[in-house]
Amino acid sequence: MERVDLFISGGGLAGLIATAAFGQAGFRVVLADPAPPSGDEGSDLRSTAYLQPSRTLIERAGLWQALAPHATPLEVLRVVDSVGWPPEIRESREFRAEETGEAAFGWNLPNWRARRVLAEAIAALPGVSLRLGTGFRTLVQRESEALVTLSDGARLRARLALAADGRASPLREAAGIGVDVTRYGQKALAFSVTHDLPHEGVSTEIYNRGGAFTLVPLGDAGGRPASAVVWMDDGPRAVALAAMEAGAFAAEMQARSCGVLGALELATGRQVWPVVTQRAQAMVAQRVALIAEAAHVLPPIGAQGLNTSLQDVAVLVGLAVAAPEALGAPAMLDAYAAARGRDLAARARAIDLFNRVCKSGLVPVQSLRLAGLRAVHGIAPLRRAAMRAGLGG
Ligand SMILES: Cc1cc2nc3c(=O)[nH]c(=O)nc-3n(C[C@H](O)[C@H](O)[C@H](O)COP(=O)(O)OP(=O)(O)OC[C@H]3O[C@@H](n4cnc5c(N)ncnc54)[C@H](O)[C@@H]3O)c2cc1C
Repeated sequence: MERVDLFISGGGLAGLIATAAFGQAGFRVVLADPAPPSGDEGSDLRSTAYLQPSRTLIERAGLWQALAPHATPLEVLRVVDSVGWPPEIRESREFRAEETGEAAFGWNLPNWRARRVLAEAIAALPGVSLRLGTGFRTLVQRESEALVTLSDGARLRARLALAADGRASPLREAAGIGVDVTRYGQKALAFSVTHDLPHEGVSTEIYNRGGAFTLVPLGDAGGRPASAVVWMDDGPRAVALAAMEAGAFAAEMQARSCGVLGALELATGRQVWPVVTQRAQAMVAQRVALIAEAAHVLPPIGAQGLNTSLQDVAVLVGLAVAAPEALGAPAMLDAYAAARGRDLAARARAIDLFNRVCKSGLVPVQSLRLAGLRAVHGIAPLRRAAMRAGLGG
């Protein structure tokens, strides 16, 4: 039976980056994921805006250089408040990263591209084994190690088994950890568009009943400016939009964008994601730790999801490097759970409240949303605090 320091279940973005970070720190790591080795363009239509703390972690793991050519900087965040259908703009305010002394709020990359580039870069790391096309199957927890079997019959002994296998995490389930879920009756559509007007590094969030419509800059596609879109709406409407014939969908999308980037053209398929807040009832179990969506799922607002996940990785790697012999021991796992618990609870509460206010169709709540935007933008210290939060602080 193969002995390793860490077994990581799940090669999504969080699992891959965790693998690189532990590998760079000198730990022997096996990562397994049943998804095929190279994700293609249609495999995940989401993009991720990597905020500064995530970029720092990725740089330390030696991976930023490989990602940088595909990353588009987000220099300005434009927040637009709209009401009615077709939406009518009531207010539009811009937050500039340079006001905080930073060049950008974050750097945006298509998920499929990031996953492919990361897998290639990690395959070259010594001490790391990527088993793509092979899934986690069973777990036996012992005091000193986790015994794991994979779908190809391989058996491993790991000092720590890390669940990075997403919101339905099989490893979390095998460890007997349940989840608490808050539903909002919303879904998010993810797709990409090209458009007539250049985005000029401006990420735009347009609020209306049902939630945010967000346009996040990407590199040019076919010689035209391009953006990734996340469109949050009431569940039935989002499902209807996803199934809509192309011409009808284009008209709805154009109206919802308020024309801020000129004429939009759909450049990819449309994927639908449920919008939930989900927290695992524990971050750890004997010889097991949860990270990323296996531990916490947030509504896709403010680029918090993966960025929060990478804070999990940063804390775990920090603890492991400080006391390598204690990897996976109860004291280390307790320290991890304590370090992440408060931050995660605070972020989940803030995003939950923000989402409820932003999606409301009630006139008094919509007035509150408008007043909130004006206050946050108009009062300089509040504006800077909001921007620091936007930068991942
Ligand atoms: C529409 C949308 C937009 C978003 N935009 C942003 C953003 O701009 N910024 C941001 O920070 N976050 C964003 N997020 C959140 C972000 O996408 C997620 O946090 C992140 O992709 C989740 O990563 P993950 O690695 O935890 O899970 P996943 O990406 O779900 O990966 C889990 C992996 O586990 C694997 N797996 C499943 N079963 C097994 C098994 N038996 N054994 C081993 N592996 C298994 C799966 O194949 C998969 O590859 C967004 C989310 C949504 C829905």
